Amino acid sequence: MAQHPHGCTCFIIPPKMLRKLAEQTHDASERHCLLDAAEISAHLRGQRSVAPVVMGLAAATGEKSRTVYDGQNKSTLPGKLVRAEGGKPLTDVAVNQAYDGAGATYDFYREVLKRNSIDGKGLRLDSTVHYQTRFNNAFWNGQQMVYGDGDGKLFLGFTGALDVIAHELTHGVTQYAVPGGLVYEDQSGALNESISDVFGSVVKQWTLKQSVEQADWLIGAGIMAPSVGKALRSMADPGNQALTWSGDDQPKTMAGYVENGDVHTNSGIPNHAFYAAALALKGNSWDKAGPIWYKALSLLTANATFADMAKATAQAAALLYGADSAEQHAIQAAWKVVGVS
Ligand SMILES: [Zn+2]
Repeated sequence: MAQHPHGCTCFIIPPKMLRKLAEQTHDASERHCLLDAAEISAHLRGQRSVAPVVMGLAAATGEKSRTVYDGQNKSTLPGKLVRAEGGKPLTDVAVNQAYDGAGATYDFYREVLKRNSIDGKGLRLDSTVHYQTRFNNAFWNGQQMVYGDGDGKLFLGFTGALDVIAHELTHGVTQYAVPGGLVYEDQSGALNESISDVFGSVVKQWTLKQSVEQADWLIGAGIMAPSVGKALRSMADPGNQALTWSGDDQPKTMAGYVENGDVHTNSGIPNHAFYAAALALKGNSWDKAGPIWYKALSLLTANATFADMAKATAQAAALLYGADSAEQHAIQAAWKVVGVS
């Protein structure tokens, strides 16, 4: 992992959202859960994921290979192995969801983008469920996926949404596919987050066989109680309080860009560019927009900005469909919609 210094410890829920929810709740134990998760999230994020591989080098098997561990409500990773590739479903729903979600994500990358797992070489996909007690988050730690159960009141568990699982796994893809990885701060960090939302949503659409018009373009629908919101983020309409949780602070275009903003905040801008591109290209997001975004990853550098991504996607469209093609024009127009050029 040392050759990938910009692997991140990347969470689906920003610590800021957990703190804000904690301020609003009147339930002391709920507040405690939220603040705990916020603190752990912030602490883990600060760690560079260059630590030695904890699991005894995940094997490059050349084919689909998944393991799911039960964290047994502790914070030691990976925990106890409960299901490996080909193993029968258990009565534990979270285990099966983590297993199936990793499988759907693997299949998408293999079949649609011709990529063999996270590293392109069949890296085993390791997941831990039941991390800590009532933990309100899910994350990729540079080596594996980790899922909390949620407090059961505000957050209902993190393996229930395929886009969340695909989001976390895509952090792994970004770590390997972008030369040097994408630094998890500023615009490159927001891009890192956005790429995970993009493929999180595309994997969900591909699995449900939804066209760009049918898709809900929401991230994290189903992981939270209705009192918190419908979803974490909307790619179609970033910052829409009715579609998302009531504190959604995502800008839709550069006009709302937040200086020194959280990586989950400014990611609304490239998220919306992808949405605009997919809508313009019509049909299914995985036919053209997804492959163009994916090809752009190899054209980025560790500190890439939104403008660099605009350039890389236009270049990727030219490589796939020809310079001056309708596809390339659609990509360029999409970035103009969000004020990036
Ligand atoms: Zn993320």
